[in-house]
Amino acid sequence: MTAAPTSTAAALPTAASPPAAAVVGPRLSSGYHSLQVDVDVRLNTNEAPLAPPAGWMDALRDGLAHLALNRYPDREATELREALARQHGVAPEQVFAANGSNEVIQCLLLAYGGPGRAAVTFEPTYALHSHIATLTHTPVTSGFRRDDFTLDPDELVRVIAAARPAVTFLCSPNNPTGRVEPPELVAEALSSAPGLVVVDEAYGQFSPWSALSLLAQPGAERLVVLRTFSKTWAMAGARLGYMIGAPAVVQALQTAALPYHLDSIKQLAGRLALGFEAEMRARVAIGVEERGRVAAALGQMDVESWPSDANFILFRPMHHDSHEVWEGLLARSVLIRNCTSWPGLAGCLRVTVGTPEENTRFLVALGEVLDE
Ligand code: PMP
Repeated sequence: MTAAPTSTAAALPTAASPPAAAVVGPRLSSGYHSLQVDVDVRLNTNEAPLAPPAGWMDALRDGLAHLALNRYPDREATELREALARQHGVAPEQVFAANGSNEVIQCLLLAYGGPGRAAVTFEPTYALHSHIATLTHTPVTSGFRRDDFTLDPDELVRVIAAARPAVTFLCSPNNPTGRVEPPELVAEALSSAPGLVVVDEAYGQFSPWSALSLLAQPGAERLVVLRTFSKTWAMAGARLGYMIGAPAVVQALQTAALPYHLDSIKQLAGRLALGFEAEMRARVAIGVEERGRVAAALGQMDVESWPSDANFILFRPMHHDSHEVWEGLLARSVLIRNCTSWPGLAGCLRVTVGTPEENTRFLVALGEVLDE
């Protein structure tokens, strides 16, 4: 039986009588965005400074000629997951790939978060962990790092014991502060957290160790390690990231992801990129050398800076207004990240390590701004 049309019509507001309740607005008034402006030197989003290897581009062009783009992609991303599994010495059932590691985080929180299931972060850290948690109605409890941005294991245990989180986020090396978490700290999180322990290793290739080495430890069925092609693989524009963890977690994420979320071009691009690991490692080595040069130069300037195990450096002008410094750099066509409004980062700026020429441009511009 259908309802009488008159009763529905009576409930509809007319132009003369607006609805009593306002339209419900979005949960968050602004998202997480980095400024995208046209500058000579772009050092604000921790991308690789160089284009991907030419050989990869050629292979991708050849591969594209054979892709059946009229068909939906392989929903399981079988070949890509097999290639990633081989690279990391795990089973394909332990790998889930998505549109950037941000989408992996979103799937994790869709599958394991939600009302009544807490997520824990340790600030300052990567803002998207708490941002996506909030978007998925997952309550967030945050612990805080020490003044030198290391994480006190007692704070870790205290916050986990209080929140009993479904998802605990760690980030190693930590964005935006730059340091790697020690293995003992991640092991401690695994033994004290009741739910998933997600170790975001977006900058993992710069790190002296990986949480992947804990996959054989007790509790490892709750360990999730995130990786991305956006940084060292020089493929931020291709949007590809992945996680390695237990097959049951992979299955849960596959359920949370939209059907065919990973397009065929991306699956091919990622698979081919893995054939260029030597080139990727060579670029990481150059980045590490340049990071040392930039860090040493910052050490001679009127700024405080923190040690980094990644491709960026956090620093704080000591006697200048940080926002003015950031603007002074922008006026010289050098764009870096202004972190001063982020929790625990008052006065802080973050610079990505770029090419030697870009880094020199940044250092010269910073010197000028600090001399003003
Ligand atoms: N995790 C961390 C710590 C990051 O810094 C970033 C990128 N800024 C991401 C994840 C997201 O990377 P992707 O491009 O793979 O979504």
